[in-house]
Amino acid sequence: MIDQFISIAEVLGYLKVENISDIEERAEIIQEFLNRQASKGVGNAYERYLENGASTAANVITTYPRATKECIMWCVNHYLSLNKNANVIEKACRAMKHYGTGCGTSACSCGMTSLHKEIEARVAKLVGKEEAVVFPTGFTTNLGGISYLVGDRDLILIDGESHSSMINGCKLSIAKKVAFKHNDVADLEIKLKKYGNECENIFVLVESAYSMSGDLSPLKEITALKKSYKFYLYVDEAHSFGFYGEKGQGYCYEQGVTEDVDFIMSTFSKATAAVGGFIASKHKYCGILRWGPMYMFQACLTPPDAAVILACLDEIESNPAMIRELHEKNQYMRGLLNAKKFNLGHSQSPIIPIMVPSPAKLLSVVDDLYEEGIYSTPIVYPAVQKHEGRIRLILNLAHTKEQIDYTVEMLEKICKKHDAPCFLSETKPESNTVSHW
Ligand code: PMP
Repeated sequence: MIDQFISIAEVLGYLKVENISDIEERAEIIQEFLNRQASKGVGNAYERYLENGASTAANVITTYPRATKECIMWCVNHYLSLNKNANVIEKACRAMKHYGTGCGTSACSCGMTSLHKEIEARVAKLVGKEEAVVFPTGFTTNLGGISYLVGDRDLILIDGESHSSMINGCKLSIAKKVAFKHNDVADLEIKLKKYGNECENIFVLVESAYSMSGDLSPLKEITALKKSYKFYLYVDEAHSFGFYGEKGQGYCYEQGVTEDVDFIMSTFSKATAAVGGFIASKHKYCGILRWGPMYMFQACLTPPDAAVILACLDEIESNPAMIRELHEKNQYMRGLLNAKKFNLGHSQSPIIPIMVPSPAKLLSVVDDLYEEGIYSTPIVYPAVQKHEGRIRLILNLAHTKEQIDYTVEMLEKICKKHDAPCFLSETKPESNTVSHW
């Protein structure tokens, strides 16, 4: 059997380099690690890539050894599987012919096209806000949005499981930052009370559906706190925009809390199968966002990507049954996994994590799954705590019943073979903050 992964001890040792400040020393450690992998004939994560692009059945190429393997993919965020949709591709090609490839400059120096303007208007209307500002990636949307909205004398209260892009947005701001326990509204309230008088404005940052756990945010309870406390609420809808709400308006809309959410953010790299991101809000706040350096000094989204986003929105609008079908598949797969007593944490969204609080066993399971033609990225430190681990399955509309059935069958067989502690009776609840905060 080909050992795709190096030992967990080595992975953890390698990750410690983030604490080494000297660049020469850090470079040497990383190089030594990569050489060690190569000498063992083991590929690292960046040496696995796809021959035919992202799909629920894709050809994975590995460098060590040089090989191609057809796999059922569980790590792609194209929830509605629109990246290979014929209409979408046709519209992107037409846009490329008309507008060319890149934009050549940022929005403030005339980098936008009519496609960009159409996205801003359409997205704002869809999520129910006055206006939207489009950025070139989801990551820089959070970096630019958070760091530029929050002032020096403000306070950020951020859910402890938030995505790296939000955390790094916070790091760019010199405002005080405090994490509250993941999805714990009581803890948020304690912190609103405790720190409320020490700052000018408070910004509460959450995700609607969390990328590592698939948990949904208690948005109704969080927005209810607005009756007693003054704060701005920023919701990252990366894992819900396009497939929650009957027309893909997102989870804020589905929960009926749009009015109480001040900033709705999402990326365009998931349900809308391109790249880019947006923040939708009141007209006056969008003015602030356009003043920020990530917007002012970053080249615009390419026209073909802009066309893909619009084409995906067309598909969602004309075929809302896609959304229902995705959620039905989610229930089907969860039903199978629950029947086998897998520990799925508190997840509900189409991100289905299986908790495996033994990183070494997790890597053996993922390795064997790969041998059986099932690809999933193991979630280990720093995405979760050092002693924890997860197999994360991201459900896409194009996953077939056969692919789901086979994956669940293999999961049970392989997890039992390795005695992996991933069944309900055997696992302790996961801690509720990620370690990279
Ligand atoms: N927010 C969340 C919650 C995410 O999961 C991601 C990406 N996985 C991003 C923002 C960044 O988006 P992108 O990768 O499209 O830049």
